Amino acid sequence: MSRMIRPQSITADRQKGLMTITWEDGHVSTYTFSLLRHACPCAECAGGHENMRHDPDPVVFYLPPIEGKRAQIKTVEAVGNYGINIIWEDGHRYGIYNWDYLRKLCPCEACQRERAAKGLVPDQETIEKEIERRLHPPKPQKIEIEFTL
Ligand SMILES: [Zn+2]
Ligand SMILES: [Zn+2]
Repeated sequence: MSRMIRPQSITADRQKGLMTITWEDGHVSTYTFSLLRHACPCAECAGGHENMRHDPDPVVFYLPPIEGKRAQIKTVEAVGNYGINIIWEDGHRYGIYNWDYLRKLCPCEACQRERAAKGLVPDQETIEKEIERRLHPPKPQKIEIEFTL
């Protein structure tokens, strides 16, 4: 098993809406905030726990950019030494992006070519279905939890 590649530095530019990771192997990944939000790995965004995946869904590269608060990062917190939690301006905050996930989400040309070589390119129908699904997310089920002390 190969060792996980870690970031050497992470910078987020709110003005430009870009996060840049320089990896310890010298590779540089520049993500738009919109792409990071599209790729939020939390259960809610994935459409339920059963749909949570370890690798980014290739469809996220083909979705129209998100505007407004949903694509604005409020802050980024380290999670242990394996990833980051992104806290968004609209209050969303449950996505933990680990290093492996972020590396596989690199949108640079070389990484896009690698994904294409692996056949990780969604067809038009898949892209349209995913746009539709994200426009009409299912309402989360309400569960009442009561504490007695
Ligand atoms: Zn999410
Ligand atoms: Zn790359």
